[in-house]
Amino acid sequence: MAQSMPAKSHGAELVSRNPATGEELGRAPLTMPEEVARSVGRAREAQSEWSRSSFRERGRLVMKARRIILSELEEIALLISQETGKPVAEAISMELAPTLDLMQYFARKSASLLSPRGISVGQYALMGRFSYEIYKPLGVIGIISPWNFPWATPLDSVVMALLAGNAVVLKPSELTPLTGLKIKEVFDRAGLPDGVLQVVTGDGSTGAALVGAGVDKIVFTGSVATGKRVAEAAAKYLTPVVLELGGKDPMIVLDDANIRNAARGAVWGAFANAGQCCASVERCYVHETVAERFIAEVVAETKRLRQSIGTDQTADVGSMTSERQLLTVQKHVDEAIDKGATALTGGDRVPDSAGAFFEPTVLVNVNHDMDIMRDETFGPVLPIMTFKTDDEAVRLANDSIYGLTASVWTSNIGRGRRLAERIEAGTITVNEVLYTHAIAQTPWGGVKQSGFGRTHGRAGLLELVSARHVHVNRISFMPDLWWFNYTPEAGRLFRGFARRLASGSLFQTALLLPQMIRRWQERSRLR
Ligand code: NAD
Repeated sequence: MAQSMPAKSHGAELVSRNPATGEELGRAPLTMPEEVARSVGRAREAQSEWSRSSFRERGRLVMKARRIILSELEEIALLISQETGKPVAEAISMELAPTLDLMQYFARKSASLLSPRGISVGQYALMGRFSYEIYKPLGVIGIISPWNFPWATPLDSVVMALLAGNAVVLKPSELTPLTGLKIKEVFDRAGLPDGVLQVVTGDGSTGAALVGAGVDKIVFTGSVATGKRVAEAAAKYLTPVVLELGGKDPMIVLDDANIRNAARGAVWGAFANAGQCCASVERCYVHETVAERFIAEVVAETKRLRQSIGTDQTADVGSMTSERQLLTVQKHVDEAIDKGATALTGGDRVPDSAGAFFEPTVLVNVNHDMDIMRDETFGPVLPIMTFKTDDEAVRLANDSIYGLTASVWTSNIGRGRRLAERIEAGTITVNEVLYTHAIAQTPWGGVKQSGFGRTHGRAGLLELVSARHVHVNRISFMPDLWWFNYTPEAGRLFRGFARRLASGSLFQTALLLPQMIRRWQERSRLR
């Protein structure tokens, strides 16, 4: 099958660099708006045939792409590590393994997850009616993704959109274009028909062009500020959007938690991916009676972490992905320290390093007047505050414009669940942190300014289809009782509908039968 050429760029290029070393890794085109529009046009043409393929055929193709990925696991992990600065091990555990799982899950399950669903219509069923819902592909999905998980975030949505019968135009982050192009290469080699998946590399202007190019839905993952711009631009065309935005995710450690385990969870949750996860632990609240022990464990654990370039097999924490993000982290830490916070370890960029390395940092004496507790830091910083009561912990956790994930740590599962259900977030975990993005079956997404819509799970798949309701009246030879003509007899029946049919009770509805018969008889006389 012929494969489409990469999009044209009038010669302008993105330069991809390893943030740990500054070394150039390669270049990608800066795709111009008119080429983005042409890509969407090509995708639309290709989609109509793709949508006619069966779930089985689409699933086979995804499984073929999956085998190609598996056979090149090491090369892809290295590319991800080099473009982002994360350890190769983390590229495998946090990006490749979860996506390979998601690919097999949706390749096998999309058909049943999207099979027609009957809808109970209550008493209307007694009148010979039935309803069901079917799911049609939307058409062309525009996917715009960030740099922190440049493989998993876009690829998960690409796979789900393709399996649902859509074509896709993907705009990867300007910091990680080579990983984005690798996704296309894998699907091309698996035999995806030309045009069904296109990758337009570029910066924000390319993303904005995609939003304005007449796609049928935008799945955007990125910052709140850009998410708002995307929503505003999409509103002009009434293009629906899924917004997966930032977070300021709280971790609550109750007095009965296993302190050692909670401390290890906090350190992984805050520093994995150099703290650049949308669901990183961005603030921690610990019960005052266990705070001293917990903080000591966290600090000791943090000091044991090895920070190095991603190819070092013993590296726990790599470099950050961009100097710009590192400066945001430094600004938050400096502001907190100016306002009275104390860094128990870390607090600065790694001295004498050419790369974007920031030391894993633990802060105490922090409060909600500081940016470090309010704005997304998106770096390796763990600020810790204490609380006295469960109510106070919930109040502090919910005191945020964000609501992506949160976690509660306790040895009493009932208490943990009760608290979890009071927290305003899209995902709340008990004795766990961060990792549920890796579970293909569970929904992912935020509340409040962390966005709306879902990726993953059946809820995520439903975002990528158009649900159509089909309603059938088996009794094709009789007019409905509520059609014209209106008469006093009809009025009496309608009042009965209001009192009895609308009660939802079969017994009450049955009491309407004599009135219904009178209306039928009247109808026959009027005819
Ligand atoms: P960003 O908002 O700067 O950029 C995201 C993407 O949007 C990039 O591809 C960028 O080129 C593009 N873009 C920029 N301006 C645009 C415009 N006007 N129109 C359309 N597209 C435009 O975010 P980032 O710095 O790349 O990523 C970090 C952010 O992503 C963090 O806030 C993080 O929390 C968030 N994130 C959220 C999730 C989630 O699932 N909720 C997952 C990963 C990252």
